[in-house]
Amino acid sequence: MAKRETPKTSTPRKKKVDVMKCLVIHMISEGPSVGWVHTHGMREFGHPELEIRCLPKFMMMYGGSLLNELGSFILNSGEVFKTGEVVQLGISKFRLSRGEPNPADPDEAAHYQEEVWRLIDVEDAPCAVCNPHPSPQLN
Ligand SMILES: [Zn+2]
Repeated sequence: MAKRETPKTSTPRKKKVDVMKCLVIHMISEGPSVGWVHTHGMREFGHPELEIRCLPKFMMMYGGSLLNELGSFILNSGEVFKTGEVVQLGISKFRLSRGEPNPADPDEAAHYQEEVWRLIDVEDAPCAVCNPHPSPQLN
């Protein structure tokens, strides 16, 4: 019987992190038509949690899948990302930005005690609800 031998120079393969077991995805309503999707579990591996704000509710399942996919890639690829960077994952293209709590909801502060990365549109079109920019004063 042939016996397969592992080369003596090989190193043990790092075990792949299964995000379906290690990450929890929360989907929270932010109003009648939009929601907040975010991860819990990335911090245990030394990475920022991930989130998408103001996502149309009919897209929340897709958003959760995207966060799982991105989380798996970050945890298993060894690639190093930073905020401001544009990331393409399959057909999804987004920019990583620093997540900030909604000042109108003090209960959210616990989610932001450590760094959170928010996935935003690559065109940087700010959401008028989550990321309002002050209008210029005309007088
Ligand atoms: Zn949560």
